[in-house]
Amino acid sequence: MTERKLTRRLMIGNVPVGGGAPVSIQSMTNTDTMDVAATLDQIRRLAEAGCQIVRIAVPATKPGQALEATRGAVAEIVSGSPIPAVADVHFDYTLALAALEAGVQGLRINPGNIGGEEKVRAVAEAAGERGVPIRVGVNAGSLEKEILSRYGHPTAEALLESALKEIALLEKYGFKDIKVSVKSSSVPLTLDSYRLLSERVDYPLHVGVSEAGPPWMGTIRSSIGIGTLLAEGIGDTIRVSLAGDPVQEVRVGRAILKSLEPSRSGADIIACPTCARTQIDVEGIASELETRLQDLKVPIRIAVMGCAVNGPGEAAEADLGVAGGKTKGLLFIKGKRRGWYAKQDLLKVLLDEVEKMTAELSNKEKT
Ligand code: SF4
Repeated sequence: MTERKLTRRLMIGNVPVGGGAPVSIQSMTNTDTMDVAATLDQIRRLAEAGCQIVRIAVPATKPGQALEATRGAVAEIVSGSPIPAVADVHFDYTLALAALEAGVQGLRINPGNIGGEEKVRAVAEAAGERGVPIRVGVNAGSLEKEILSRYGHPTAEALLESALKEIALLEKYGFKDIKVSVKSSSVPLTLDSYRLLSERVDYPLHVGVSEAGPPWMGTIRSSIGIGTLLAEGIGDTIRVSLAGDPVQEVRVGRAILKSLEPSRSGADIIACPTCARTQIDVEGIASELETRLQDLKVPIRIAVMGCAVNGPGEAAEADLGVAGGKTKGLLFIKGKRRGWYAKQDLLKVLLDEVEKMTAELSNKEKT
C-alpha cells in the first residue's frame, strides 16, 4: 500500500482528521432532524456500530417555523450525541449560523450555493470564532451551472475547479480549517477527481462514492472507490453511502478499513470458498460469525477452512482458526493446534474463544 499522503490535521470535536490520524468513519442520519428522539436513537446505534463522526442534515425551515426551533433541535442533538456532529447545510446561510450557535463540531457546506460572498464570509467568521472546521463538499450532481456549461458534463477537472474555487472563497476570509470532498456516483470519476485534488491541496480529504446505491451494489461500488483511494494513500475520513439503514454504512466502512489494515478493530473473518473436499459447514459457520461479530470492537482474525489442503496453513496464521477433518474439526489458537472438536460444536467453540480473547484484549487496553 502506498504511504498515506500527509495532510493538515483538524479536529471534529475530539476526533482528529488528517495529519496521519487513523482514517475515521462517518455516516449520516436519515431521520427527520426535527425529531430529536429518533435522530439521537439512530446516532447511538451508529456509534455502537463504530461510527466516529455523524452528519445531520439541517433542513430548511418550514413556513411558520422559527429558526429558533431548528437551532433548538440541533442543540439537543449535539448535546445528546455520543460522537461529534456535523451539520449539513445547503442554500441558506442562516441555517449554518444557527447550527454553529447550536454547538455543532463540524459544518458541511457548498460555498457556491450558500448565497454570495458576504454570506460565505459570515459563515467562515462564525466557524472560525468557534474553531469549527468546514467541509467543502463538491458533488458531481450539483456542480455550479457555469462550470458545468463550460465542461459540458461533470469531469474530474470540473469537480476540481469547483473545489478549488470554493476553497479559495473560504481562504479569502482567512479560513483554513477545511476538509474537502469531490464525490460522484461514478467510481472512475470519483477516483480521477480525488487524485487530482490530492495533488493540489494538503487539506484533509473526506472520501466517498456518493449515491452508491442499494446495499449490495453500493457496497461493491464504495469498496472499490474508497478502497482504491485509500490504497493509494488518499483519504483521511470516509463515508459509505448506501440507500437504507446508515448503520450498514458504518459496518461496510469498517470492513473496508479492516481489509486494508488488518490491525484495525473488529472481526476479520476469512473463509475458504469451499469445494468438493469441504469437510465442515464453512458457509454456515463463517456467516454466523459475521453476523454475531459484526460490531466487535477488538481486532481478531478468524479463519474458517474446509479441509486439510490450505486449512491448517491459513488457520494457523489467524488468531483463531478451524480446519475441517474427516470426522472432526481442528482448532488453532494463535498458530497452535488446540485439539479436535465435533463438527457441530465448532461455531460455539470459536465464539467462546472470541469471548475470552475479547476480555483479554479489553483488559490489556485498560492497563
Ligand atoms: Fe476446498 Fe479445502 Fe481449499 Fe476449502 S481449503 S476450498 S475445502 S481445498
